[in-house]
Amino acid sequence: MYNWNTHSNFNFCEGQISAYHHNKYFEEFINSISSLFITFLGVYGLYISRNFKLSKGVIKSYVLLIICGIGSALFHSNLIELFRYLDEFPMILSSTYSTYIFSYYFANSRLLKYLLCLFWYSYCIILMALNIFIHPDLFRTLFGIPMALTIIIITIVSIKKNIIRRIIPRLIILPVVAVTLWSIDMHYCCSYIHYLYLHTCWHILIGYTAILIIEINIIFTLYRKKCNMDQIIIYDKFPLFYADINKCTKVK
Ligand SMILES: [Zn+2]
Repeated sequence: MYNWNTHSNFNFCEGQISAYHHNKYFEEFINSISSLFITFLGVYGLYISRNFKLSKGVIKSYVLLIICGIGSALFHSNLIELFRYLDEFPMILSSTYSTYIFSYYFANSRLLKYLLCLFWYSYCIILMALNIFIHPDLFRTLFGIPMALTIIIITIVSIKKNIIRRIIPRLIILPVVAVTLWSIDMHYCCSYIHYLYLHTCWHILIGYTAILIIEINIIFTLYRKKCNMDQIIIYDKFPLFYADINKCTKVK
C-alpha cells in the first residue's frame, strides 16, 4: 500500500542545509514562502481581468496556478509525499492543458479536435500514474515535453503576430534559466549555492512563464475571433502582459 504520509526523498538545497540546522517548523522556509508567489500570480491574473469575459479555459488555468502555489508551499514546508502531488499534479495539468489549447490552434476539423483532446487527456493521466508508481524523474522529463511544445507552437504561430512576437524572447529565456537553476540547486548543492536560493528563483521564473502562457492564450483567442488587433490595448506591466479583451471589434 502506498504511504502518502512518508517523507519525500527529494533533496532541495535549502532542505539539506536547514536539516543541518534542525529547523523543526519548516523544512524549507524560503522555498515554502516563495511558492506563494505562484499563487499570487494566479490571483492577480484573475483580479486584473475581473472586468473581462474570460473563457472557462483561462479561468481554469489561473485556478490551477493558485492550487499549484499552495501545494508547493505545503510541500516545501514538510516535504510529505501527499503535498508533493498537490504541487506536481496542477503542474502536469497546466502544462498538458496549455499544449492542448495551443495545438487546438492547428486543428481545423472536429475529428482532429476530439483526437487532440483524447491524446492530451490520456497523456495527463499517464503522467500522473508514472509520477506515483514509477519514478519522479521520469515525470520531470515528461512534464517538460508539453511545456516545451507549447513554447514551440507559440513561437511558430507568433512569427507573424506583432503583439505577441515581442514577448517570445522572454517566453524562451525564462524557462531555460528556470530549469538550469532548478538543476544546479538539485545536483550541485553546497554551502555557497545554498545562499543563492536557486529553487526560489525557479518558483518565480516558472510562475512568470506560466502566467505569460495564459496571457498569450487570451491574445491568441482575440486573433481567432478576428478582432481588430490595432484597437486592442496591451498592458505590459510586471508581472503581467495582458490585453484589454473588451476592446475587441471585429475586422470587417
Ligand atoms: Zn518547488
